[in-house]
Amino acid sequence: MGQFIYLKDVVTLALDQEKCVGCGTCTVVCPHEVILLDNGKARIEHRDACMECGACAQNCPNAALSVDAGVGCAAAVINSALGREGSACCCVIDNKEACE
Ligand code: SF4
Ligand code: SF4
Repeated sequence: MGQFIYLKDVVTLALDQEKCVGCGTCTVVCPHEVILLDNGKARIEHRDACMECGACAQNCPNAALSVDAGVGCAAAVINSALGREGSACCCVIDNKEACE
């Protein structure tokens, strides 16, 4: 299966690298490999793949990450699965034209 992407440039995910202690927890809990460790610091690598689940921010020991969980893509996916029209905002990169 291809990697999910979010609508471009709307993700609320933010990283304060000054606060990052390089523990790597965010890279483990993120379901979409949005964040990578680079020279001992977290770096947002695939921003548009973030589904705003909040797992990284909840598990960061130094509050280096923030995201408005529950108002973005994850909520939209759930609403879409429940049959609420006009809710879906994710698509698969293999079918990228469906996103544009
Ligand atoms: S909010 Fe979820 S999907 Fe987005 S970077 Fe954090 S763990 Fe990954
Ligand atoms: S969980 Fe927080 S402190 Fe740990 S690598 Fe990620 S951003 Fe840095």
